[in-house]
Amino acid sequence: MERLHCFPQPFPDESLYSLAVRYHRLSSNDSYRRTSQELFGAYSRTCGSILPCCLGALSQRVASAYSVDELIDRFTLLPLYKPFVDDAKYGAARISMAGNSGTGLKMSLGITASGFLKHASFRYCKRCVEEDIHACGSAYWHRIHQAIGTCTCPHHRDVLRGMTFPDGTDWRCMLLPAEALGSPVMQLPGKPAADIVSEMQLWGLEHPTDVMNLLDGNFLRHRLDEMGFLKSGRIREQALRGFLTPRLLCSPRTQEFQEVSHSCDWVFGVLRPRGAVVQPIKFYFLCWLLEIDLEQLKSFRPQADIRSANTFKGKETGSNVDAGEIDARRATFSSSSKIKCHDKPGYQWLYCHDREWLAQYVSVHPFIRLRPGLVDWNARDLELARDLLIARDQILSAQGKPQKVTRAALDRAVAHRHDFLRMPDKFPISTLLMSDMLDSDHDHQIRKIRWAVRHYLLPERTAISVVYRLAGIRLSHVAEEEVLNILSSA
Ligand SMILES: [Zn+2]
Repeated sequence: MERLHCFPQPFPDESLYSLAVRYHRLSSNDSYRRTSQELFGAYSRTCGSILPCCLGALSQRVASAYSVDELIDRFTLLPLYKPFVDDAKYGAARISMAGNSGTGLKMSLGITASGFLKHASFRYCKRCVEEDIHACGSAYWHRIHQAIGTCTCPHHRDVLRGMTFPDGTDWRCMLLPAEALGSPVMQLPGKPAADIVSEMQLWGLEHPTDVMNLLDGNFLRHRLDEMGFLKSGRIREQALRGFLTPRLLCSPRTQEFQEVSHSCDWVFGVLRPRGAVVQPIKFYFLCWLLEIDLEQLKSFRPQADIRSANTFKGKETGSNVDAGEIDARRATFSSSSKIKCHDKPGYQWLYCHDREWLAQYVSVHPFIRLRPGLVDWNARDLELARDLLIARDQILSAQGKPQKVTRAALDRAVAHRHDFLRMPDKFPISTLLMSDMLDSDHDHQIRKIRWAVRHYLLPERTAISVVYRLAGIRLSHVAEEEVLNILSSA
């Protein structure tokens, strides 16, 4: 097994496919087959999937910079499904993604049966593309944009665009967002619902444990109770249908929501899942139908927890949690170097036993996304310079009549060409190198004459006009003496 020589630095919420595309370009590979072999040691048919496989092999090849669990949690959409799946199924899904075959994975998570899969597309937000190029140096595929039910960008609220790969090809042609034709995935009516579902899905993807707490705390039943749709613990089905039916008319105008907007029968499957996997889109869409917003999801406290929060108001209130333990937990939590609160040790414990202190800590230590400054421009400049040299050699060694080394030909051949065109000041070495490498008309014609003399075995006494014609030169930029020299030395 070969370790990878390079692997792209991941951008915030980047999908595994996006990393594979950027790796493909960094390595100047000519086919997906080759990239897949290098990354996964096999031909992976799931690299473009929201739940890709072969992650065990990839983890080994990146010298364990990312464990399989980290690859799954950071670059795939499995965490979005985590709250809705029991431990056994979730464990099996992780094993499946670590291995080489994804057979049965989507079926076990209920995705195949849900019928949503046929509406999936490679989606991007135009404003994210612009901002990512500015902040990260490259557009990339955002994981959340690929989630079924995410039709608008949760950051910008713009309608996402679905990209059509050119000439009937698919994701294996390794493109980044907006590099081929994209069209809006929904029409504007119903956008408010789409915006809320997108925001909730992003939060759910980033906070699976909080969503599990919602489900464990019977969040939706609490809401039904608040709205008067529960009587003696049973759902008032007729009344609920009467409320939902007109609201369904405001569903987002997009294919995946068509699956759930024609009837509200599916709502009862979400409220009483009976072992079936609830699709995240259905859960979050039902939240919207019940007039719930993201803040309500975030602030929900299960009743059992409310009781315990009253008991454990802190060490001063004489709680039955040892004051020493609270101090120790607070110290461990606040000294952790992890940036996100949810990743710090003891978050769950503090959430249950010392929530006031935790809320105060979070409010004075907000998590700030480190979007700008992620790019090592110096390294990228050197990388581009190397790519330019390779591209120049490829142009010079191409078969047939010599091609001219032009800026356009070099740009076409290197990765990051879009950055290079838009931000030349970020690439000082490459800019200098490129100006040195470009062919003048004179140099290009000299190469064409040498080629013609070799190719047509021209004798020394050949007329210069014949040499020009065979070399494809109409307006000469070389001296006659130079042509004669080439003829005589052939
Ligand atoms: Zn966006």
